[in-house]
Parts: sequence; structure tokens; C-alpha cells
Amino acid sequence: MSGTTGASSLPGPPPAPADAVTEAFWQATREGTLSVQHCPACGGHQHPPRVLCVHCGGIDGLRQVPVRGAAVLDSFTTVHRAPDGRAVPYTVGRVRLAEGPVLLAPVLGDPDSFRCDQPVRLVWLSLPDGRRQPAFTPAPDAPPDEPEP
Ligand SMILES: [Zn+2]
Repeated sequence: MSGTTGASSLPGPPPAPADAVTEAFWQATREGTLSVQHCPACGGHQHPPRVLCVHCGGIDGLRQVPVRGAAVLDSFTTVHRAPDGRAVPYTVGRVRLAEGPVLLAPVLGDPDSFRCDQPVRLVWLSLPDGRRQPAFTPAPDAPPDEPEP
């Protein structure tokens, strides 16, 4: 698995409290497991957790299933001026998991080195209430950028 950093280094706004729909996701994070919601009716995966399947509309049997955390950085934005005085810069990425669903999550590292479609790996950030925030950082074995044609 991966390392965990303290809450004082949490970039960006803190996640919302868990509720009835998201509790299973957050509970898994306490054990260092990233999960997405699976629909038994159509086999679809989705994130964030919802009361119905976005693929087929099914409402029965939706449950969290673990994912590997392998992902690519679809897109990202780096915040240089935060509205509430928190430490900047920080980067929030749209991260596409190998299983398909997309997460919005902090991206750790040098913002100048981030590239779209870059492989990233999962890391965890500790939250004060014991949950962990999934975050991503460039994968160490990421292939070098292709030269411009
Ligand atoms: Zn479905």
C-alpha cells in the first residue's frame, strides 16, 4: 500500500462528513482500502457512492468493492490563491481509475511536473476523525513524456 501523511498537510478543502450513502466508502478508507460502488444488476462501477446506479437506475444491492488504485490523471487545476488562507499552491485532479470511475482528489508533488494522462498512484492523507482522504501522486515508474512530433 502506500504512506500516510498528517492532516496538517491536507491540501484543499476537507471532505464532507460521511452520511448513510457514503459511510461504507469512508469506513473502507479507515482500513486503507479504496473502493467504488458496484451495481449487481448491470455490473457498472461508479463514484462517488449514490442511492442509485448511474448506468441502469438500479437501486438494489449497490455495494462498495475494493479497487487497486491504479489511475491516470485526466485533468487537474492548481490553486494559487485560496479563499480561506490555507497553504498554497495545492492541486486537485480528476483522476480516472483503471476500473473506470473518476475521483476528484488532491494530487501531491510538483505541479509543474503534472501532465494529463500521466499515470498516478494512490496515497492516503489522514483526517482528524480517523478517515483517510485518497490522494494521488505521479507513479514512480511513469514512462517519460513522448517527444513532440
Ligand atoms: Zn446498474
